[in-house]
Amino acid sequence: MQRRLFEEDHEMFRGIATEFNARAVAPHYARWDTDHMMSRDLWTAAGEQGLLGLAVPEEFGGMGMDDYRFRAVLDEEFARSNHLAVGLAFHLHDDLVLPHLLAYGSEDLKSRWLPGMVSGEKVTSVAWTEPGAGSDLRGIRTKAVRDGGDWLISGQKTFIGNGISGDASLVLARTDGGTGRGSHDSFSLFMVQKGDGYNTGKQLDKMGLKASDTAELFFDNVRVPHADLVGEEGRGLQYAAEQLPQGRLAIAVASSAVVRAVYEATVRYTKERNAFGERIIDFQNSRFVLADILTEVEVTEAYVDQAILAFNTGELDAGSAARAKLWASERAKSVTDRCLQLHGGYGYIMEYPVAQAYLAARLLTIFGGTNEIMRDVVGRTIAS
Ligand SMILES: Cc1cc2nc3c(=O)[nH]c(=O)nc-3n(C[C@H](O)[C@H](O)[C@H](O)COP(=O)(O)OP(=O)(O)OC[C@H]3O[C@@H](n4cnc5c(N)ncnc54)[C@H](O)[C@@H]3O)c2cc1C
Repeated sequence: MQRRLFEEDHEMFRGIATEFNARAVAPHYARWDTDHMMSRDLWTAAGEQGLLGLAVPEEFGGMGMDDYRFRAVLDEEFARSNHLAVGLAFHLHDDLVLPHLLAYGSEDLKSRWLPGMVSGEKVTSVAWTEPGAGSDLRGIRTKAVRDGGDWLISGQKTFIGNGISGDASLVLARTDGGTGRGSHDSFSLFMVQKGDGYNTGKQLDKMGLKASDTAELFFDNVRVPHADLVGEEGRGLQYAAEQLPQGRLAIAVASSAVVRAVYEATVRYTKERNAFGERIIDFQNSRFVLADILTEVEVTEAYVDQAILAFNTGELDAGSAARAKLWASERAKSVTDRCLQLHGGYGYIMEYPVAQAYLAARLLTIFGGTNEIMRDVVGRTIAS
């Protein structure tokens, strides 16, 4: 079926994103994958091309594009070309840090961070997860304590994308002085600069998406000015919950694009390869598998496209965003697996896009809230 989501302006933007991807990402991606780190130049090149901080208002150096279809185009292009690590890095910066600063940041915070986030001179990360708490954010133990006009932050974070390459992190810390599991108003968000003195631990060796850096962060009485508190004290969890639909929508968009790309690559492959005197696609099993997958591709796109439009009009509620993420990421996991099988032994060789997509897609059901948590979110909306 013909998708009707995008208009001429989005397709023009896609042309820019495709050209950027071919010029600034593709020639270097294999090296970044080996280095477990992409070049910082990529960020400034993306900034020059107008690909970062699309939603930032003009007064802070952005274009004020609040139509999520443009962000979706960018996510799709990175996912389609198996450059999901770049998509992930930009996603943390633009779908997680940025919405919090736009919605709750003071004018001072916005003027200090937004122009650099748009130009790519400032790279940001989100530091919520800890070794002892991921799904259950009320269990986090990193604490921030008032000290005159400042805060002192102590604790440890893990799995932080852009943690090594980034200049600052949006840190969730406990601010009510309590121990044990906190309540909804026990936590606050801080925009903590690397220059404030937090340390990055070792690069974590991921199974896929290796071109993006992922690390532990250590805070040992890191002194942060009160001006770097984002929004009001005690509202960190509420802010995170309010902004999570965007993050989950982005994962759904990337998942949907992976599903489409892997399906198309597998159709091509099974038309080219022969066994028993026939093309692989001519076996009834192959056609049945691909028929199921094409159906899933189109159903996924239809739901995710509706979710994008709902986000644009402010109507994407937590349950719908969770369903989009749940459905699309489960499809990405299952479709990459079935397509890999149709490639036979070549599917297991990293040179083949399906092998890279299989490893990359495995993250999609885990981060941004695991799919068990998505089911919980959806289940609660049914039960309420
Ligand atoms: C590559 C990568 C990048 C990441 N990037 C970031 C980042 O940039 N910033 C950041 O803050 N975090 C990041 N994360 C962390 C990610 O969001 C967490 O891993 C995720 O939320 C799950 O938390 P956990 O790993 O602690 O698993 P746990 O919470 O320990 O969960 C373990 C298992 O128990 C299940 N479970 C937990 N609670 C329930 C429940 N109530 N009901 C049913 N099942 C449950 C989970 O679904 C899971 O299957 C990243 C993770 C990875 C792997």
